[in-house]
Amino acid sequence: MVSKVRTFKSEKGLSQDAGTYRRGELRGIIRINEEVCVGCDTCRGVCPADAIEGSVGEKHKINLDKCVVCGQCLINCPFDAVEQMSFVEDVLPKLKDKQTKVVAIVAPAVRVAIAEEFGAKPGTLALGRLWVALKKAGFEIYDNNFAADQTILEEGTELLARIAAHAGLKELPVYLWDKKLVLEVEEYKHKPLPQFTSCCPAWVRYVELYYPDLIPYLSTCKSPQQMAGATAKTYGAKDVWKVAVEKVYTVGVMPCTAKIFEAFRPEFNSAGKYHKNESIRDVDAVLTTRDLAEIFRRLNIDFMSLPEERDPKNFMWYSGGATIFGVSGGVMEAAIRFAFHVLSGKEPSPTASEWEFHDVRGLTNPVVRATVTIPLRPEYQKVFNDKVIRLKVCVVNGIGHNGAHLKPVVEEVLRGKSPYQFIEVMTCPGGCINGGGQPKQAMSIGFIQKIFYKLGRA
Ligand code: SF4
Ligand code: SF4
Ligand code: SF4
Repeated sequence: MVSKVRTFKSEKGLSQDAGTYRRGELRGIIRINEEVCVGCDTCRGVCPADAIEGSVGEKHKINLDKCVVCGQCLINCPFDAVEQMSFVEDVLPKLKDKQTKVVAIVAPAVRVAIAEEFGAKPGTLALGRLWVALKKAGFEIYDNNFAADQTILEEGTELLARIAAHAGLKELPVYLWDKKLVLEVEEYKHKPLPQFTSCCPAWVRYVELYYPDLIPYLSTCKSPQQMAGATAKTYGAKDVWKVAVEKVYTVGVMPCTAKIFEAFRPEFNSAGKYHKNESIRDVDAVLTTRDLAEIFRRLNIDFMSLPEERDPKNFMWYSGGATIFGVSGGVMEAAIRFAFHVLSGKEPSPTASEWEFHDVRGLTNPVVRATVTIPLRPEYQKVFNDKVIRLKVCVVNGIGHNGAHLKPVVEEVLRGKSPYQFIEVMTCPGGCINGGGQPKQAMSIGFIQKIFYKLGRA
C-alpha cells in the first residue's frame, strides 16, 4: 500500500535571493508540517546534509540553506509529515489548452514505480500502459532514456578527452559507428581527474554547498532532464512538432524532488538563449511520479485498465545503457559501455555478457570500487602504448547520513590521492529508483534493480 504524500502548490515569490539561494532558484520545495510531526527523528538519520533541526520529541524543521532537496526525509518519514511542492495545478490547465504542446520528459525510474500508485505490486513494469495514459492525458512524449543516451555521448566523450589530455595527448581520434572524429583534447588538461557525474541535482547542490573545490571535477554535462528540455524547445519545436517554441511546455516527470530545484536553476535556459528570449525556460515544470499519478486520477484515467501498448517514434528510442540510469551504478555502467565501444571498436550486442559490467553494480554496498579492463583497438594501442586500458572507477551508492559514505571518497580526491578516473555519485541509496518523488511505501528495492538490468540488455 502506498501512503498519500501531502503537497502544496508552487508559489510565485519563492524564487528570490535568500540565504544560500540565488535569484530564480526555488526555495522550500520540501517542508515539514509541524502539526503532523511527532519528533521521532527518523528523518535526521537519512538526511545527507545535516539539514534537519530539532531534538527527539520536538517538532522538526528543515534548514533550507543546508537542504539539497533529495526528499529522503519525505519518503522515510513514518508519519507522513513531510510535504512536497507540486506543479499539478500548473500542468493541468496546460493539458486542457489545445494550443499548447505539453511535452512529458519521462525518467526511467517512473515506469517501474507508477503502477504502485494504482495498487499494483512494487516493481510492476508499466511502460506501455504509461505511454497510453500520457497520450490520453494529452502529453507528447520525450523519453528521458533518449536524453540519457545524449548525456552518455557527451559525458563519455568528456571522460575520454580528460584521460587523453592527462596522458599528454593533444588530440584523440574517436571512432563512432563508421565515422572518425578527431577531438582536440589539450584544453582538457585543465579539467582534473577523476571526473564526477553531474546528473544528480542533489549531488551537484551538495558539491556547491559543501565541497566547492570539487566543482572543476564535475562533468560539464547537463543532466538528461535538462538536455531533453533544451532539445525539445529547439530541434523538437522546429523540426519535429513544427510549432512556435512559445507553444511548447516541457514537463519533467521524475522520481526525484531535486529535479524540481534543478529545473529552476537560472542558467538552464539554453533554448531561451538560442531563441534570443531569455524568459524561455528549458523545463517549465516538474512532476514527481506521485504527481503524475495524481494527474491521471484528476483526468479520470483508469491506469490499470489500459493496454500495454507502445509505438516508439521521435524521442522515444534509446539504448540499454540509458535504461539503467535509474539505478545506482547505472550511469557508470552506461559510460563504460560507451568507452568500451569507442576504445575496443566492438559493436554493442544485447546478448554478449562483455557488455555487462557487474563489478560496478551495487545496491548493498555504499561504495563500489572497480577496475575495468578494456581491450584497445589497434589505433589506440599506439596512442596509449598498451594493448588494454584499465579504468579505475568508483560508485557512491547514496551520500549517506551527513555524507558518511561520500566523505572518504572525496577527501581522497581533495588530497590528490584518488586512484580513480571516474566517480558516480547518486544522493539516494540505490539511485533514482529510491528517489524522493517515488510512491511512498516501506519496501525493499533490490528486485526493481533486477528489472532494470533485464531491460538494459535490450
Ligand atoms: S520523520 Fe517525520 S515525524 Fe519523525 S521527526 Fe521527521 S518529520 Fe517529524
Ligand atoms: S533529507 Fe534531503 S530533502 Fe530532507 S532535509 Fe535532508 S537534504 Fe533536505
Ligand atoms: S539519486 Fe536520483 S532521485 Fe535521488 S536526488 Fe539524485 S537524481 Fe534525484
